[in-house]
Amino acid sequence: MARIGFIGLGNMGAPMAGNLVAKGHEVIGIDLSEAARQAAAKLGVSVTTIPADVVRDVDAVITMLPAGKYVLDSYQSGALKAARPGTLFIDCSTIDVASARAASQMAATAGMRAVDAPVSGGVGGAAAGTLTFMVGGEAADFARAKPYLECMGKRIVHCGEAGNGQAAKICNNMILGISMIAVSEAFVLGEKLGLSNAALFDVASAASGQCWSLTSYCPVPGPVATSPANNGYKPGFAAELMLKDLKLAQEAARTSGAETVLGQQAAELYDAWVAAGGKGVDFSGIVNAIRSRSA
Ligand code: NAD
Repeated sequence: MARIGFIGLGNMGAPMAGNLVAKGHEVIGIDLSEAARQAAAKLGVSVTTIPADVVRDVDAVITMLPAGKYVLDSYQSGALKAARPGTLFIDCSTIDVASARAASQMAATAGMRAVDAPVSGGVGGAAAGTLTFMVGGEAADFARAKPYLECMGKRIVHCGEAGNGQAAKICNNMILGISMIAVSEAFVLGEKLGLSNAALFDVASAASGQCWSLTSYCPVPGPVATSPANNGYKPGFAAELMLKDLKLAQEAARTSGAETVLGQQAAELYDAWVAAGGKGVDFSGIVNAIRSRSA
């Protein structure tokens, strides 16, 4: 049994910390929000409001925070000073690649070890302990992190050096954002041409147009029983989180010089839809915005 510090007990962090407790670890967690602390406490997490408590005498510190600056702030504001030398810092937040690499460097300079380990699988996967982790960092640090990540997920992939977990996450989600728009445009075009959604699904799901956005998460009601389209587009994966990831991909494309024309358009389309009311709606609901503009 290990003692683990957990910083950020929000929608994802609380159930993830709860799964570590369920697997027999002692978890001490912190969050700025009282409601988040209470939710985590119900899952067996010992909660505190004193930042140094979560890093002192622990084997690993896990962060699950909204953005890169929060991770860097929490490392800088004392987490790295209060931890004992060699403590493993695991950042599971989705953040920009540059901040992930800076966090790893800061940890190394302070005599700590670090990996970035963003997740896919959403709140449902966090609760069920079935997340996928994409991990960047040295092999020995990956090996140390893996047993903890296995308490919270079912697929743990080493993607290479520091920051590569975040790189894999934003590349994957750029594919997802673009493909959801492509599938949505195809259904709207089919509707305009008098083709039924069922017929298009029957053809495309077994033809060269098939992809996850179509066959597992179909954006129109009917063909895939479990898709949010059959549940009023309740997330799932909210549009604003897709937008966050598409913006991170664009930031990385700019700094690395990669051409991502469709990634840029996907970011612009999600940006416009989130501003016009898509916030809080599953990201597949963009099909309805495309249909409205096509009316
Ligand atoms: P959330 O907003 O519910 O939780 C973040 C928590 O961090 C909040 O409770 C906030 O109070 C806390 N926090 C902020 N600064 C803090 C600090 N300095 N110290 C302690 N606590 C602090 O967000 P979430 O949905 O849990 O997402 C967390 C991360 O996981 C994000 O980076 C997000 O992009 C990523 N992610 C989310 C999902 C999802 O479906 N929600 C899926 C994959 C990845």
